[in-house]
Amino acid sequence: MGDDSGLSHDEQYSTATTVEEFRANIAEVERRIAAAAERAGRERTEVELLPVSKTVPQERIRLAVAAGCAKLGENKVQEAHRKSEEMADLDINWAVIGHLQSNKAKDVAKFAGEFQALDRLKVARALDRRLQAEGRSLDVYVQVNTSSEDSKFGMPPEELLGFLGELRSFDSLKVQGLMTLAIFSSDIDRVRPCFELLRGLRDQVREADPDLLGPGRLSMGMSGDFEVAIEEGADCVRVGQAIFGRRALPDSHYWPEAD
Ligand SMILES: *Cc1c(COP(=O)(O)O)cnc(C)c1O
Repeated sequence: MGDDSGLSHDEQYSTATTVEEFRANIAEVERRIAAAAERAGRERTEVELLPVSKTVPQERIRLAVAAGCAKLGENKVQEAHRKSEEMADLDINWAVIGHLQSNKAKDVAKFAGEFQALDRLKVARALDRRLQAEGRSLDVYVQVNTSSEDSKFGMPPEELLGFLGELRSFDSLKVQGLMTLAIFSSDIDRVRPCFELLRGLRDQVREADPDLLGPGRLSMGMSGDFEVAIEEGADCVRVGQAIFGRRALPDSHYWPEAD
């Protein structure tokens, strides 16, 4: 810690290689979620833990599933799609949580149960068309850029209300709420405002028109900052390294220019 690489306590993430080790990592994350919820006067059951399995090979994912993970988040569509086929024998609910190009919408429409990074009409349109063709619907979160960093995907807060209004015309997209990535900083005082901003936006939208946001859930918080996110109202935390172990690939692989 003490550098700019983010809140992630990298050296503390132990790589689980057995079902027992996965159970232990999950139990520790569960303990921290429960503690954060209690501090915030919230119920543990209000917070969904979404394990994030990006870069993890199927051998280890299978162990995590055996340890109780039934829904998994993946950042990249191709990787997620490949894994969904490799593990078609398991009953995994796949959530795509990373940026999507409209030409990959058809893949998402095929296998994903949820898409958390919706930030452009072009993608919404492509998804809706594909979903209609497949005769299904998709839970989506609208991603907002709460850190005003160019390197982060997500729409600027001031465009949110208009965007949500436009989404109404896409019947197959079931809006669940908002998603964000906080600034990468080890300084909590810079991270917390990102979460506060997302909650404030959710509240504003609800006031303007409660129908725009469905249940109005907030997906925010990762291994390094999920406790702060829960204190600020997160309904879903996306946790990778604290469950699966440290990733070899730097975050810049997922968020251009992140570090
Ligand atoms: C990788 C990823 C996470 C999880 O990050 P960890 O540091 O592994 O907990 C959360 N959200 C998104 C969008 C991600 O790509």
